Order: sequence, then structure tokens, then C-alpha cells
Amino acid sequence: MKKVVKFGGSSLASAAQFAKVAQIIKSDKQRKFVVASAPGKRNSADTKVTDMLYGCYALAEEGKAFDKELAAIEARYQEIIDGLELTVSLSEDFKTIADNFKAKAGKDYAASRGEFLNSKLLAAYLGFEFVDAAEMICFKQSGEFNAEKTNELVAARLEKVEYAVIPGFYGSSPDGKAKTFSRGGSDITGSIVARAVRADVYENWTDVSGVLVADPRIINDPEVIDVITYKELRELSYMGFSVLHEDAIFPVRVEGIPINIRNTNDPAAEGTWIVASTCQKSKYTITGIAGKKGFCSVTLEKDMMNAEVGFGRRVLQAFEDNDISFEHLPSGIDTMTVLVHQDEFMHKEANVVSALHRLTHPDGIEIESDLALVAVVGRGMKSARGTAGRIFAALAHANVNVKMIDQGSSELNIIIGVRNEDFEVAIKAIYDIFVSSRL
Ligand code: ASP
Repeated sequence: MKKVVKFGGSSLASAAQFAKVAQIIKSDKQRKFVVASAPGKRNSADTKVTDMLYGCYALAEEGKAFDKELAAIEARYQEIIDGLELTVSLSEDFKTIADNFKAKAGKDYAASRGEFLNSKLLAAYLGFEFVDAAEMICFKQSGEFNAEKTNELVAARLEKVEYAVIPGFYGSSPDGKAKTFSRGGSDITGSIVARAVRADVYENWTDVSGVLVADPRIINDPEVIDVITYKELRELSYMGFSVLHEDAIFPVRVEGIPINIRNTNDPAAEGTWIVASTCQKSKYTITGIAGKKGFCSVTLEKDMMNAEVGFGRRVLQAFEDNDISFEHLPSGIDTMTVLVHQDEFMHKEANVVSALHRLTHPDGIEIESDLALVAVVGRGMKSARGTAGRIFAALAHANVNVKMIDQGSSELNIIIGVRNEDFEVAIKAIYDIFVSSRL
């Protein structure tokens, strides 16, 4: 058995957190490859080291003095070194960083130092080998992640290594420059390493006890999901769920490796298992609820549109020509609605509308803004009768007017469009009916 374990920023924010992490790793010999984030927040008022690095580098780029800011970053690491009584010194590293900042090594280089230094400390503390991600995680010159080359390099580099710490979040471009994933990208590195070493499990340690059924900012103390499939999580995360970086599923999915979300501050909790497929039913008919505000609907009306070959394509072309992606496409016999993100659409509205007129000659176009989408997701919905009925009854009782309904053809999700102001009420009503009262 081989486990890849990734620890997030809050799990590695201080010496006390490092001690917890070491205890978790040492309690299981199968935890062989550790992927580390940069130090995160120690409390809610704190600043992540990644943000400090971005701020500091911005000064360097403008040619301004940045010594005070860099010293504050060094102090964050020194606090960890002192707290753990390590004999390591990072002063040479900080001299190199200062020189590279002055030479304008780039924003990605700056941010990458957060995980680089933290991983060095963690490796020293654990007595594991430090393996730099720059050696093996690679990007194409276009900036796109090079999945296959990376997989070969990571597999080859770690083949003979027994225990290692690898910094998350970055790799390198063909020109040797550091390149990062988007924010929260250490989750992706963990998944890449798990795939390459063919791990039995990818443990992702964070500060919550798993994936929650609904957003805790809307639902007070929501339940933890015990098992969720990749597909369900994907549906939820594109609708704003953020326990794991959206792209972190893809590398492990190739090998069908399960992800186990765990809590560093509560290691005894089983957390959430994210799996390729499962015969385990979810505790409730639904697995999770997520959603987002800020959508616009563009509805076209045209008599006999159903008989007009290519009508749909021409509608979508108007959006494509303006570089706007669409979210959903509910349609009726003589109507078709395109749901788009309001912020993407707003400033291109006039162009899209004229393109629609030119390409499709509709009888009318109606635009409605300030809509929210709620996604109710669950593999259990496929075999359960009446799920949609219960959702809409709950919404009606909560006085929420449903503007749009879209059930994905895999019967894995039901998407409901409501007004922005009804968003929270809608989520509460659905949570209540399925989870709190288990109806
Ligand atoms: N440190 C990076 C960030 O704050 C990456 C990560 O922690 O996953 O986004």
C-alpha cells in the first residue's frame, strides 16, 4: 500500500500545525509521498504566505524596496523553524530570492517559493527526501500543463525514493522558468503524484472534516458527505463547491484512485471518500447542493423554430463569436434560452443581441438578469421516484418562484434557476427537506 498525502496551507501554517502533520504522517508507514502547500492563515485575520509573496514581488517589479515585506515572510518560516527547534537555516534561500526578485524572475517564481521553502522545512522535520516539483512537473511553453510528460518524469524520479516531500502548486516551463497552477493548485500536484506512483489512495488533508452537503455559509453546521463520486463532485464544484481544486480530480481519475478528504485538526474523523464509482448509497437521496448567483438568461422566440435546421447552432454561434461560454440551454417548441454568466455577458450584450438578430431573425429576444442557479446533485436520484417533486414542493412552501429547470440527462443533477434574492432560501429549503427532516 502506498499513500500520497497532501497538506493544505492551514495544516502547515505554524510549528504547532507541523507537529500535528508529522504525527499523522508517522502514524502510518504507507504515507510515503507528502505534497505540501505554503503556510496559510494561522487565524482569520492572518495573511497567507502566497499572498505575502505576490505583494512583495509586486513591489520588486515596480522597482520599489521590498526588504521589509520579504523579512516578514522570512519571519513566518523562522517562527516554524524555532517552534520545531530545527537546525535548518533558510537565510541563503532568502538571499537568492531577493536577488531573483530584483532580477524580476516573475510572479509565478515568487509565489512558488512559498511551497518550496515550506516543503524543505517539512522534509527536514520528517527526515524525508526533498524532491523539487520543478524537476518533474512540467508545462508547455503555451502555459498548458503537460500531463503525459509530467507523469513519466514523476514516476521515474520517485521510483527509487521511499519517503519524500514535494512542494505543491508549481512546476516549470520548457525555458526553465517557474510556472504555477491557479490558486489552490497544490491539490492538483497531489493528484499528479498519486497518479504517477499509482497510489492506493490520495489523502487530501485540510481544515474541514470532509466535503459538506451544502455551503456552511448558508447552512449552519451542514452534514459531511461520506462517499461521493468524481462525477458528483465535478457537478458540485463547477457550481461553486470549493473543498478541492476543480482540476484535482483529473489525474487520479485516469487510474481510478480514490481521494480521501481529511481534517488535520480531527484526524480520527473518516472524512469524505471521492471515488470513481460506488455501490454505496448516499445517506440521503441527494449527495450535495451547490449553486451560484449572477446569471443572465437570453430567451429567443421564433415560431416554428423547431423545424428550422441549424437554428440552435446559429444561436450558439452568436455567443461563440463574442467569446462567451454558456451554462445551460433550456428550450421549448418555439423558444430557446441561453444561460450565461452575467459578468461575462453584460459588456458584450449589444454585440450578442445584434449577432442573434443577424443570424437567427427571431420574433423576439428577452433578457433577464440577476438569476441564480442551484444544483441538486446525487447518484441516488436515478432510482428514486419523486425527487424532483419533493424539491419543487419544498421551494413552493418556501415561497421561491422557480424560473428554470434542467435535469441533466445522466439523472445525476437537477439545476434550478431562481432569482438571486431567493438563492439562500432555496438552498435551505432543499437541505431541510432531504437532510434535516430526511423526507
Ligand atoms: N499556496 C497556493 C495558494 O494559496 C497553492 C495552494 O495552497 O494550494 O493558492
